[in-house]
Amino acid sequence: MDWRTKLLDPAPRARSGYRSLATPVYRGSTVVFDSQADVTDDWRQAENGYSYGLYGTPTTLELAARLADLEGARHTFIVPGGQAAIALVYLAYCKAGSHALVPVSAYGPNREMADGLLRSLAITVEPYDPMIGSGIKDLIKDNTSLIWCESPGSVTMEVQDVPEIARVARGCGVPVALDNTYAAGVLFDAFAHGVDVSIQALTKYVGGHSDILLGSVSARDDHAYAMLGPVYRQLGLAVSPDDCSLALRGLQTLAVRLDRLQLSALAVAEWLARQADVETVLHPALPSCPGHANWKRDFTGSASVFSFLFRTGISAKQVEYFVNGLNLFKIGLSWGGVTSLAVVYPALDRPGKNYGGRLVRLNVGLEEPLDLINDLEQAFDLIESLERFSD
Ligand SMILES: *Cc1c(COP(=O)(O)O)cnc(C)c1O
Repeated sequence: MDWRTKLLDPAPRARSGYRSLATPVYRGSTVVFDSQADVTDDWRQAENGYSYGLYGTPTTLELAARLADLEGARHTFIVPGGQAAIALVYLAYCKAGSHALVPVSAYGPNREMADGLLRSLAITVEPYDPMIGSGIKDLIKDNTSLIWCESPGSVTMEVQDVPEIARVARGCGVPVALDNTYAAGVLFDAFAHGVDVSIQALTKYVGGHSDILLGSVSARDDHAYAMLGPVYRQLGLAVSPDDCSLALRGLQTLAVRLDRLQLSALAVAEWLARQADVETVLHPALPSCPGHANWKRDFTGSASVFSFLFRTGISAKQVEYFVNGLNLFKIGLSWGGVTSLAVVYPALDRPGKNYGGRLVRLNVGLEEPLDLINDLEQAFDLIESLERFSD
């Protein structure tokens, strides 16, 4: 064999059987078959064997299988991000003429997709009050093909009565999808509470270090699996095995990170609730959070992200000054990593509510809670000096 040909020979030279504790990163598009008769192009690789890298390499499918096991799912699909997970669910369950329901408190780009791409495909998505509970029945129409829940909601943190919504939906034959990112798929048991499809932005807690973008879509049963699979294939939602490898590593420390984040976030939230400039703290484990009783009944813990509202009389400008004045809390979107973050949501669409630029969302990281509290305290002092200055 010419050395040039030798260079291209894919047969492994090293001894096989290296039993690493870490899942190997399998890169690859093409899968080699033994014979023409063995060639398949089937997305159901977990059952029917490997066919093509687009449907996942062993690294991806290892992550998928571990998540499915954790969540009690029939199967989990790994997709490029939480937003891709949302898109997959909409496109799998809705077609031209369909009606879907989404809580007003849903993740912003979910609602943006409803008003953008989905509208152009003649799919109508109607926003509903996240605290609606059994009242969801009145909104279900003959052509309702999907109900979204997201609990707690993004930024305003309403904890929904998911089991009640799922019960009513099941009675009407309408599938329920849940954005279970806050619970990392573990602090709220989606399938035990009647949900059909549970998605996560793995970008947040499973990744846990702000260095990957990845999502998951978990199917409750064979029916959900069959609804999602073909659309997953048609959309070509391939992911990087390197990102999956980081998510697998993230899973190993998920429990200790969540435990610590829960304690730190609660310490910060409880301190904030005692501050004179704070009107309310929207943290699911505090009674001041809408749906707190649902959280208490249905969740096994709380996480790192929550919001607080400055009292009336504090201007939007002061709130901005406060956020700019923080040192340990960085200004940034996303959450679930090791670094504390703060961001103002000046224009939130929440019917009947005007937060007037006074709502701040925090992600508490792994820094010492006392340092974080000191950081917040000096920022409160800053806005007081601004108050005096402008008087
Ligand atoms: C971040 C987030 C998403 C989107 O995840 P990406 O991986 O950033 O696309 C979806 N839902 C919720 C609730 C989120 O917080």
